[in-house]
Amino acid sequence: MEKDVLHSAEQLLEQIFHYMSQLVNEKRFSKTLELLTELGRTLVHCDRASFWYWDKNKHQYWTLTASGRDKIVVPEGTGIVGATIANQETICINSPYEDERFNASVDKESGYVTRSILCFPITNEKGHVIGAFQAINKMDDEGNPIGFEKTDEKRLAMVAVFCGKTLESHLLYEQAQIDQLTGLKNRRGFYDYYVQNFDEHTKQASIVMCDIDFFKKVNDTYGHNAGDAVLMHVADILLKNLPNGGEVVRWGGEEFVFLLNGIDVQQAVTFAENIRKQMEQTSVQYDNQVIQITMSFGVAPLLGQRTSDENVKQADDNLYQAKQNGRNRVVYS
Ligand code: GH3
Ligand code: MG
Ligand code: MG
Repeated sequence: MEKDVLHSAEQLLEQIFHYMSQLVNEKRFSKTLELLTELGRTLVHCDRASFWYWDKNKHQYWTLTASGRDKIVVPEGTGIVGATIANQETICINSPYEDERFNASVDKESGYVTRSILCFPITNEKGHVIGAFQAINKMDDEGNPIGFEKTDEKRLAMVAVFCGKTLESHLLYEQAQIDQLTGLKNRRGFYDYYVQNFDEHTKQASIVMCDIDFFKKVNDTYGHNAGDAVLMHVADILLKNLPNGGEVVRWGGEEFVFLLNGIDVQQAVTFAENIRKQMEQTSVQYDNQVIQITMSFGVAPLLGQRTSDENVKQADDNLYQAKQNGRNRVVYS
């Protein structure tokens, strides 16, 4: 598709359909944002476009690179995107170097010349600003630089709505896979991770299932809030021990599961034994009380020819044996 010059309304319509037909079939988040960004760039006929998401927790804005794999992150409040988000208003600048909100240092480094900017706030269902769409260097039909106009704002609004909806549904989807108390993945996250990382070709992998011993007693003795503090403490230790190529999830209640890629059962047993010792040797302080816990572990191979549930069941059976044999131990098969 020709990038720089747009000849007629018919060609514009053709380009819109070009992107829309791809968007209809696209399921991947990063690719969807990329297509929407390209659509926005085409609609206002400019040189560059980017969609910025505002991560309020981390006080940053991020955008995906063309590859979709890397994020570019800038601190909250930076540049024109920052001003657009902070004031919840569209900003249109046709001489950026004279505008104090514009950060010219990026251009200085890269040699790029920014001539015009149109930045549009993006809102969620509730009308709260969640990001911004930025278009840079508007061109006329021949590809010569000109300034942005009111019509460009209208055209960008269409893309901004789609971007907002795409982002919001992606964030909700991610949220639905996270356990609120511990911040670990939940069971839904487990299945997603499993299908993305294991299949019939999986050669060497293991499952470690673990469960806090006599956790009901912790709740009964110290109260439910103390129990929650113990769960967070356990999750911290599990996460600290998580190797590359692995994931740990809160399976439910006081039960956790490790998926370990590239690790055989013997290595997984050593791994579990190491965590078991750490649990035994650490304690949780809650309301001036020191709470000590232990955990039991079931280890099993993750076999590609089995279903995820079959693999989990074997680890669960071994965990059951660890409980039967006296708890605070690792059982494997
Ligand atoms: P076992 O050694 O056999 O595993 O005994 P247990 O007491 O750990 O196991 P049991 O299944 O009898 O009790 C688990 C308890 O975990 C009961 C439930 O109230 C508690 N629990 C589950 N989820 C949470 C939670 O999110 N917070 C708190 N505080 N307690 C929870
Ligand atoms: Mg338990
Ligand atoms: Mg349990």
